[in-house]
Amino acid sequence: MLEHLADAMRERMVLSFEVFPPKTDQGLVKLKDCLDHLYAFQPDYVSCTYGAGGTNVGKNMEVCKMIVEADNDTVPVTHFTCIGNTKGEIKEKLQNYLDNGVDHILALRGDLPDGWTGTGGDLSYATDLVSFIRREFGDRFEIAVAGSPEGHIACRSLEADIAHLKQKQDEGANFIMTQLTFDMEQFKYWLDAIRCAGITMPVDVGVMPVLNRESVINMCLSRNGCAIPRKLAEIISHHWFDKDAEGNKRQDVLDAFREEGIEYTVNQILEYVSLGVGGIHLYALNTWENSTEILNKAGIRTIV
Ligand code: FAD
Repeated sequence: MLEHLADAMRERMVLSFEVFPPKTDQGLVKLKDCLDHLYAFQPDYVSCTYGAGGTNVGKNMEVCKMIVEADNDTVPVTHFTCIGNTKGEIKEKLQNYLDNGVDHILALRGDLPDGWTGTGGDLSYATDLVSFIRREFGDRFEIAVAGSPEGHIACRSLEADIAHLKQKQDEGANFIMTQLTFDMEQFKYWLDAIRCAGITMPVDVGVMPVLNRESVINMCLSRNGCAIPRKLAEIISHHWFDKDAEGNKRQDVLDAFREEGIEYTVNQILEYVSLGVGGIHLYALNTWENSTEILNKAGIRTIV
């Protein structure tokens, strides 16, 4: 029987990780080792991305199957997008997930590949995908959808974006997985706003660990238009000059950035916990060491 993560989120705070499909078989072996370490935290689910930034889906199904075959209590959740998919292809691919024991899906429009102006498929928005899944598969999938605390970059206003999120609920979505944000004040504002708009779905919060200066700047600015709050900007500025006189990277500066970044991430998690969110969804980035340090410092499986 389909296990409902949304029901669990209404009773307690769940924990989950996000990984991406490696390009090579060697990468898959490494990911299996990573997951074996992460299972120690008894995650409620592990999600696997799908063709982010393009149409290449890579080894998404292999990763989902790996989670199924681990045969523990961790539920596999696949991300799925409208990019380049006809309705017929969507039906066939989703049936294949079901046949392989994957019945939880994050229904997304998808990142448009460079130069594209639409999805290149039969469906244009995540709302269309949610409604299509419910029409074709009834309740055989539990459906998560994306929510953007700072508003989706392409949307004319936060209010319009929230209205589209409400539409996803009305079409039959079960819970929200949020886009990364480093801005806690904005997150609190958005959480109030979606509740006022009648969105009752549990909110599972995406947590992007702060580990490396370039990737924080890139993640905020390349696609998402996310704010870098004062505290995070200070951490970046304090560690801006990271080369020695010969132009070599200074490991001590990189390490100091990582340490302060992890503290920032742990504080974000603790604030989310105090807000009573439905879950913490940690972007594991296919490694286990950082997630382990963050979760141990946050005490998330012991204090909560
Ligand atoms: P939508 O909800 O369709 O929204 C897209 C834009 O259209 C928004 O501006 C929205 O306000 C607007 N809109 C929505 N519905 C309507 C409507 N009916 N009429 C008019 N406008 C509308 N991308 C990938 O390619 N692969 C992944 O694996 C992946 N994983 C992700 C995981 C998480 C947790 C999140 C938050 C995002 C992920 N993304 C992934 C990125 C996501 O695909 C992009 O953010 C994409 O640009 C929007 O997807 P969406 O599902 O939010 O789209």
